[in-house]
Amino acid sequence: MIKQSILLKPMDIEVQQVEENILGENEVEIKIEACGICRGDLDMFLGERKSFMEQTTMGHEFIGKVTNTGEKCGNFLLGKRVAVNPLISCGKCYSCSNGNENYCEELRVIGFGRPGGMAEYTNQDINQVIPIKNEVKWQKAVLIEPLAVAINALENVSIDNKKNIVILGGGTIGYLICKLIKNTWPDTNLIVLTRRDTWRKLFENINCYVFKGIDEINNYINMNLKEAGIDIVFECTGSEEIASEAIKLIRRGGTILLVGIPKKNKLLKMKKIQDRSLNIKGISMYNRNQFAKAVSMVNDGFNAEEVISDIFSLDRIGEAFYMLVNKKEESRKVVIRGEEYDI
Ligand SMILES: [Zn+2]
Ligand SMILES: [Zn+2]
Repeated sequence: MIKQSILLKPMDIEVQQVEENILGENEVEIKIEACGICRGDLDMFLGERKSFMEQTTMGHEFIGKVTNTGEKCGNFLLGKRVAVNPLISCGKCYSCSNGNENYCEELRVIGFGRPGGMAEYTNQDINQVIPIKNEVKWQKAVLIEPLAVAINALENVSIDNKKNIVILGGGTIGYLICKLIKNTWPDTNLIVLTRRDTWRKLFENINCYVFKGIDEINNYINMNLKEAGIDIVFECTGSEEIASEAIKLIRRGGTILLVGIPKKNKLLKMKKIQDRSLNIKGISMYNRNQFAKAVSMVNDGFNAEEVISDIFSLDRIGEAFYMLVNKKEESRKVVIRGEEYDI
């Protein structure tokens, strides 16, 4: 018997003892080491996702150790630590053939309807796993999936040390984007919108200017950057109101990357987009190369473990979600930790 969490209905998640699933010939069994909770999971928990499927095991940000391998997998992965790419693409269509697996029309995602990592064990196709080094701390490795999103965002825009950049929404993805930018281009001017004090300090530590409101950002721009203006905006909130502000605060010809996942969509500012010659690009997850790049960056020492604010055991997963619902202001990345590993 193994433990797995099941989202029974909105606001109701339970840890159950179930029979192990039969291991497919192309699958490996993974003992979960850690699994992050992200906005997408919280939306499912709240019942706010159209694609919400009841009776599901969530979790797409996880790492673990291979404890068994299917008949056709050989045993070279046995005992190894792995990260799991949650994107399952068809591998045959035009997008897949061109390295854009995240554009695949038949894309399915582990943890969204397909059993994910909020469990003691999970069986996943061997094509989805990439080894991580033994010495990498789990706090670093559990951030591989959001790091892949940040890598995708950065590969869609050209950055250099002279750029003025605004990040709307201080959360894990926004922070990883800033950290990656500062690692390569330390002199960029990064301006961050976040109302949450728990994030402010982290952004300030990597030399970002942090503001609580759009008005404050506009004041800062008017006083300091009136000539050059803002070259790039990363919209990480998914709020249409905030994205509308991005269209106004950016300079003509600037680029806006839509990274946050919107819930509704009513007010496309067509006139402003046309008149200001803006480039607007949607960023959805990442391709296989970008996920592999995130793994190798973490294997090579990339570290953002400071984003993790709370750690819960699998048995306490309900508490973890309720904390995110009730005390969102105080928490950052919340992680479910496998039980037989040291917390
Ligand atoms: Zn996520
Ligand atoms: Zn495809």
